[in-house]
Amino acid sequence: MKGILRFTIAMLAVPFVCGTAFVIGYVTLVALTIPQLPPWAQKSVTDWMLDIPQHSESADNGSRPPSSAAGISAVRWAEYVGSESSVHGVPMKGPIQHWSTWYDKPLLGCVFHDPSYESHSGVDLPVNEGTPIYTTIAGQVVWAAENGPWGNLVVVENDGYQVWLAHLSSVEVSEGDVLEYGDLIGLSGNTGNSTGGHLHYGIKHRTEAGSFVWLDPRAYFTEDEIIPIGCSD
Ligand SMILES: [Zn+2]
Repeated sequence: MKGILRFTIAMLAVPFVCGTAFVIGYVTLVALTIPQLPPWAQKSVTDWMLDIPQHSESADNGSRPPSSAAGISAVRWAEYVGSESSVHGVPMKGPIQHWSTWYDKPLLGCVFHDPSYESHSGVDLPVNEGTPIYTTIAGQVVWAAENGPWGNLVVVENDGYQVWLAHLSSVEVSEGDVLEYGDLIGLSGNTGNSTGGHLHYGIKHRTEAGSFVWLDPRAYFTEDEIIPIGCSD
């Protein structure tokens, strides 16, 4: 009788002892791992282990650069109206470099509604990173930051028109700045949804109905201002 009792207690104790050993082992293993993590990750793993409530991914916990709301709808109309609101010309000045070759004028790659690129909302100007980019409209800067697929984006607005300059490597203006025609806005790059150094140049126009349309930038510069090389992708 005594033997059966002892056996039953032992059998009941086994899962308890194993469970305790597992928890101690697991916690020890995670605790030993924490010092080996990069400094920015250590705090959140410790918080997680101690079950301290954490912020969601989108919250700024100081471990990343400030995040900006992304997407086309994040760029709003500022209702800015200034003199000289006409859009014209190309947003860079020759000579420009693409790969190892210099050209006296900007190159025109993929175009607006290119058959091979149908949902395209502007034109692409292939150019090496770091080339100065200038606004093709005088007006107010309404966006000057990273913006998802656009990468680093600058948008300049005047009287219902917005000029969009995307995939920049650096932004040289700030939101709210009022620019003259041809002012430097940043340097070309390869940021966002981009597979090679180029500038995306779009012109957005607000319609009477309160909606908007993308205009074909080719209608705002002349053929002799660019060298067409076609869309390769
Ligand atoms: Zn583009």
